[in-house]
Amino acid sequence: MKKEIKELIEISRFYGSDSRFVIAGGGNTSYKNAEKLWVKASGSSLSTITEEEFAVLDRAKLSLMSQKTYSNNPAEREEEVKNDLAEATINKGKRPSVETSMHNVINYAFVVHLHPTIVNGLMCAQNAEGDLKKLFGNRALYVEYTDPGYVLFKKVENSIIAYRTRYGEEPAVIWLQNHGIFVAGDTIEGVKALYAKILDTLSDNVILTLPAGVRATCPNTEIIIPGIRRILYNGSPKWLKVRKNELIKFYYDSIGHQSKIAKPFTPDAIVYCKSNYIFLNDEGPEAVLAQAAGVIPSFISNFGYQPKVLLIKEIGLVSVGDTEAQCDIILDVFEDAMKIAYLSESFGGAHPMTPSQIDFIDHWEVENYRRNVAG
Ligand SMILES: [Zn+2]
Repeated sequence: MKKEIKELIEISRFYGSDSRFVIAGGGNTSYKNAEKLWVKASGSSLSTITEEEFAVLDRAKLSLMSQKTYSNNPAEREEEVKNDLAEATINKGKRPSVETSMHNVINYAFVVHLHPTIVNGLMCAQNAEGDLKKLFGNRALYVEYTDPGYVLFKKVENSIIAYRTRYGEEPAVIWLQNHGIFVAGDTIEGVKALYAKILDTLSDNVILTLPAGVRATCPNTEIIIPGIRRILYNGSPKWLKVRKNELIKFYYDSIGHQSKIAKPFTPDAIVYCKSNYIFLNDEGPEAVLAQAAGVIPSFISNFGYQPKVLLIKEIGLVSVGDTEAQCDIILDVFEDAMKIAYLSESFGGAHPMTPSQIDFIDHWEVENYRRNVAG
């Protein structure tokens, strides 16, 4: 194995196994030389990645994609882009993610793209851009939210080109609003040093530390959870899982706090948790179940899907999934959103995605689903 691929695996596992950096298998890493690019294939997890789980792409073919004109219809465009990515893939059968083109245009050997909680505490805050420049200087490269896929790639590419012209150097860090961060370097030590500095600076500037510690299960959980399961039952049984801790209490205790987590912060979160959540603020099993019996059916008829996330006073955060593993991921992703909302208070308060940004992801998901079914 090439020395650089060993290093790519090392740095992928290093961040993949640290929950401050990676939640629910998100993020991707790459290494490139002049001809080829190795990037994490879709469906692999950074924490356990092996050489076989990287897609290897022809960089000449990848570079052609930035000049090409694709369809104006988002679903058609993303299909064309997906086909071109597959065409540029040397080890056929490996699926490179839509973020691959961004890795290709960053002019460093190693690129580590992650959605770290504390980074998103800033990137999903009202003062994201202003506070970023205050903390990291005016040269910090900030990219405003753009719908994911080819359009985001072009926006990032144009920002990099503008940066080169303006400062005569390559940006090594790219901050993406309501998304995450790209960090690059010619050595993995260089990437690690940049991430360490970013995390230190952000931690030093967080005013409120996250509430920590677990809380004991409420005895009413045994009555309420089976009751909720009965209300949700539509012929196919679901898994429900409960988590309760000081952070979750902070949100179930106050309707005001709940308003900060009522909308998603990132496209990734929508994929796992959807974009609407149920908050039950009544107390005692009978009142909670009566409230649930009213709220859940109207939720389903309004949004056309079952809730994946419920927050219930005194009970905790409840996830609904098809498997136990899916429930754990939903809990992790939604708890991460709680942390993002909490940390964002240090940077002007929560800044969730807008309704039209959310709509695009919801629509895209439906399109993808139709295509998968049709395929
Ligand atoms: Zn991403």
